[in-house]
Amino acid sequence: MITQVPHIRIRSVNEAQVNTNGAFVLYWMIAFRRIQWNFSLQRAAEWALGLGKPLLILEALRCDYPWASDRLHRFVLQGMEENAKRLEDRPVLYFPFVEREKGQGKGLLEALSTLACVVVTDDYPAFFLPRMVATAGRKLPVKLEAVDSNGLLPLRAADHVFYSAFLLRQFLHRELPNHLVEFPLEDPLAHLQVPPLHRLPKEVLQKWPPSTEDLPSLLAGALTGLPIDHSVGNAPVTGGSRAGEETLRSFVEEKVPLYHTGRNHPDEKATSGLSPYLHFGHVSVHQVFSELARAEGWSIEKLASKGGGRREGWWGMSPGAEAFLDELVTWRELGFNLCSRQDDYDRLHSLPPWALDDLLQHAADPRPYLYSLEEFEGAQTHDPLWNAAQIQLVREGRIHNYLRMLWGKKILHWSASPQEALEIMIELNNKYALDGRDPNSYTGIMWILGRYDRPWAPSRPVFGRVRYMSSRNTLRKLKVAEYLKKYR
Ligand SMILES: Cc1cc2nc3c(=O)[nH]c(=O)nc-3n(C[C@H](O)[C@H](O)[C@H](O)COP(=O)(O)OP(=O)(O)OC[C@H]3O[C@@H](n4cnc5c(N)ncnc54)[C@H](O)[C@@H]3O)c2cc1C
Repeated sequence: MITQVPHIRIRSVNEAQVNTNGAFVLYWMIAFRRIQWNFSLQRAAEWALGLGKPLLILEALRCDYPWASDRLHRFVLQGMEENAKRLEDRPVLYFPFVEREKGQGKGLLEALSTLACVVVTDDYPAFFLPRMVATAGRKLPVKLEAVDSNGLLPLRAADHVFYSAFLLRQFLHRELPNHLVEFPLEDPLAHLQVPPLHRLPKEVLQKWPPSTEDLPSLLAGALTGLPIDHSVGNAPVTGGSRAGEETLRSFVEEKVPLYHTGRNHPDEKATSGLSPYLHFGHVSVHQVFSELARAEGWSIEKLASKGGGRREGWWGMSPGAEAFLDELVTWRELGFNLCSRQDDYDRLHSLPPWALDDLLQHAADPRPYLYSLEEFEGAQTHDPLWNAAQIQLVREGRIHNYLRMLWGKKILHWSASPQEALEIMIELNNKYALDGRDPNSYTGIMWILGRYDRPWAPSRPVFGRVRYMSSRNTLRKLKVAEYLKKYR
C-alpha cells in the first residue's frame, strides 16, 4: 500500500494477513488520544482509503490499570468527550468504551477484529501498553500494526540506547533533519472519502455498549460508581486536545521568551504545563514543534550545519525556544529511546554501573531522617520546601520541574535504601502526577539515582558520587516565597 507515514514508524505486531473481506479498518487508540497530528490515525485512514472500507476508531478506558483514579480517568474522559465532538461530522465511526467494572471490556477488541480488515494501534514504549499490544498481536485474526507517533525522532531511527543527553544531542544533530521533513498530517481525516459505517452488529453493541451518551454523566459525577481509586481527586487542569492546544498557544505567545531564564523558578511560572497533554497524547510533539516554529518564523534552512552535541544554537531559534526544545526533544526522547529498548527501565539494576555501585555501597549508611511511604505521602517531613512540593503533587497532579528534582533527591536521602527510594518515587509520581506512568517518569526518577548524569566528587554518605541536592541551596537559588505560601 502507498503510505505517507514513514515506514520506520510502522511495526507489524503479528504475521496475520489483511482480511480484504472485512467490514472496516479499525484504529485502536490507546496512547495518542487525538484526532490531529497523529501518524497512527493517518495510517488507519490510508488503509481505509486503500481498501475502500469504512474507518472505526475504538478508544477504550479500562478501570483495572495500575493507579487508575478519579484524577486520571477524568482527564482521559475529557479527552474522549473532545474526540467525540471533533469526529461528529467526520466520515468515521467513533466508539468510546469506558469500562464500568473490571474485565468488562475483555473480548471487545477480538470481537471487532474478527470483523475488521486490519487493526492499527499506537506504539507506546512504557507502562502496561507494550505487553497489552503484544498479547493482542498473538490473539487477533488479522494484521495488527503499531505506529510510532511518539517523538520527532522515530523510535527505530537509532539502534542503541543513549547513555547521556549529550550523546542523543549529537545523534539528533546528525539525523533529525531527515525526520523534520516527515511530519504527520495536521488533519489526517481531511478529504477522506470512504464509505460510512453507521452501526456495529447488535451482538457487539449489546455486550459492549458504546459510552458515547454516558461521557457527560461520567464527568458530572458517575465516576464514583467505578472501581477506581477515589482518594486521588480531580486536578485543576482540564484534559483533552482543546485544553492542550490552549495551553500550547498561551505558552508560545507569552512564555517562550521567559523560558530559559525563568524555567527553574517556581514563582515565575515560565514552563509550558504541557506534560499531561503530551503524556495522554492529547497534544502531539509535532504540533508543539510546528506552533513554536511558526511563532519563531523558523524554517529548516535555519538549522546550523554542525551541532556537535551542543545544547544551544543548533536549531536557529531564540534562546527561550532553544532551551525549551532541549527539554521537549532531547530530554523527552531520551526516555522513549531507553524504554523502547530495555524492559528493565524501572529497575535499580538498569542504572549505570558507577551509580549502582555507589548507591549499594552506601545503602546501609545512617540516614539523617527516615520516613515511610505514608509519611512522605502525607507531606509529613521536617522540611517545609519538600512538603510544599508534595502538597502540590497531591493537590494539582504536578510538581514544578526544579522542585521535582529536589523532591526525588530527598526521597533518596531519607529512605531506608535506594531500592525503597525508587519504589516510593514510582508510587507517588505515578499515583498523583497527571504526567506519570510515562517514559519521562523513569527518566526523571532514574536521574535522581544517577542515570544520564556523571559522578560528582566528593563522595557523600547515602549518595556516594550520585549528585546531591539540598533544600537550603534550593531556597537560596530559587524564587519560592509565593510557592511556599501557596502549598503550606
Ligand atoms: C523525579 C522526577 C520525576 C519526573 N516525572 C515525570 C513524569 O512522570 N512525566 C513527565 O512528563 N516528566 C517527568 N519529569 C520531568 C519534568 O519534571 C517534567 O517533564 C516537567 O516538569 C513537565 O512540566 P512542563 O510540561 O511545564 O515542562 P516544560 O519545562 O515546559 O518542558 C516541555 C516538555 O519537555 C519535556 N521535559 C521537560 N523537562 C524534562 C525532563 N527533565 N526530562 C524529560 N522530559 C522533560 C516534557 O515532555 C515537558 O512537557 C520528572 C522529573 C523528575 C526529576
